[in-house]
Amino acid sequence: MTGESLHLESVAGLVRGLAERRFSSEAVTRHFLDRIARLDARLNSIVTVTAETALDQAREADGRIARGQPRPLEGVPLLHKDIFCTQGVRTACGSRMLDNFVSPYDATVVSRLRAAGAVMLGKANMDEFAMGSSNETSFYGPVRNPWDTERVPGGSSGGSAAAVAARLTPAATGTDTGGSIRQPAALCGITGLKPTYGRVSRWGMIAFASSLDQAGPMAVSAEDCAHLLRAMAGFDERDSTSMNRPVPDYVAALEAPVDGLRVGLPREWFGEGLDAGVAEVVESAVAVLRELGAEVREVSLPHVGLSVPAYYVVAPAEASSNLARYDGVRFGYRCKDPRDLHDLYVRSRSEGFGAEVKRRILIGTYALSAGYYDAYYRKAQQIRRLIREDFLRAFETVDVLAGPTSPTPAFRIGERTRDPVSMYLSDVNTIAANLAGLPALSMPAGFTAGLPVGLQLVGRDFDEGRLLGVAHRFQQATDWHRRVPPGFE
Ligand code: GLN
Repeated sequence: MTGESLHLESVAGLVRGLAERRFSSEAVTRHFLDRIARLDARLNSIVTVTAETALDQAREADGRIARGQPRPLEGVPLLHKDIFCTQGVRTACGSRMLDNFVSPYDATVVSRLRAAGAVMLGKANMDEFAMGSSNETSFYGPVRNPWDTERVPGGSSGGSAAAVAARLTPAATGTDTGGSIRQPAALCGITGLKPTYGRVSRWGMIAFASSLDQAGPMAVSAEDCAHLLRAMAGFDERDSTSMNRPVPDYVAALEAPVDGLRVGLPREWFGEGLDAGVAEVVESAVAVLRELGAEVREVSLPHVGLSVPAYYVVAPAEASSNLARYDGVRFGYRCKDPRDLHDLYVRSRSEGFGAEVKRRILIGTYALSAGYYDAYYRKAQQIRRLIREDFLRAFETVDVLAGPTSPTPAFRIGERTRDPVSMYLSDVNTIAANLAGLPALSMPAGFTAGLPVGLQLVGRDFDEGRLLGVAHRFQQATDWHRRVPPGFE
């Protein structure tokens, strides 16, 4: 591989090439920094570039490699979604509220990837407080989809997805509360995994809806996601919801055969609202799984149709509580010349938050208020339990579920901003896995009208290894994930 095409190397390829000293981390890091400087003006996928730190970290990595002490991701550059706290670096979460916030510490995900030797290139653009499906709610402006810059990259991890798709970074972190890793992965033609709730620490990850939020890897391939997840996952005593169970070697597990795998297609994901082009691509991807030896059958998730309404009670309720901390007093945005404390609160929050965040706070506060709690919040929690039971029942007869990640390919910028419900429906197939706490992955399955389509796989609790393995086998048989958007080759 020559210097000019280093961006086409996979994470796995970079790990190997660095270890064999075919190139240095400094050269790789410079190559990506140079691509970001040249190409990101078209996408707006990155809000902060930490070039100097990156080069320092890269030189340190080269030193460790030279001394024969490489760690698992030694010298591999990556990008963090700007929801992860990064010590000494602005962590704005797509919001004016945190535009001036420099974190005094690193999130666990950030420190673990750093401890594995990864190099941080910078911070990725995102929807404000991760609320959105198109990256249009960011204070820093919309991100553009590298496959068609008039279209959205999906959201909320749209910056991470667009940057990986355009090969401005080999990999990125993302977070997924209702689809924010999988939906942008699908719309940008990359691979992304939302782990089981509790698999990855949420410490230092700015909270949106705490019972749903989960961090995960975004990269070109499942193999590359496995490399990242191995470093990110594991118990953290600072997150009381992180699970204390061993982290399997996701990379070693990639080679498990698909032969005999039982794949269920939930009928509810193939009904009304599914774009015909997306349906066709998904069918041919399922045919590939069959050729690899999978047994495919139809299953049903009877309550899954209630996912979107249940989510839009639970998530805003938790968000309204989590976002109460932004009061203009301790950190973040403060209004000018407050008259008194009340004025300080009201104006700081009115000026610091954007429209979608305010909408969520209003919905959530309403749903939690006395008299409505039972009618909305408790009801939504009951539905959530029914949805999880649907999945558990399905997993008695199949090993994984498969279907379209998003019912449509990338839509046009501005197309859904005036109608919040049409935006919320972008996540109609992804939200259920968050409500049920289950791991789920999206991988490139083909194209329709020149736009990428994602296939979603959902697995049992802590079955990330199997999802990555199935995706890896699929990717050995196909090359959709290797396609690079025109203009970014
Ligand atoms: N699009 C969904 C929302 O706006 C999910 C976002 C997410 O997963 N963070 O809430």
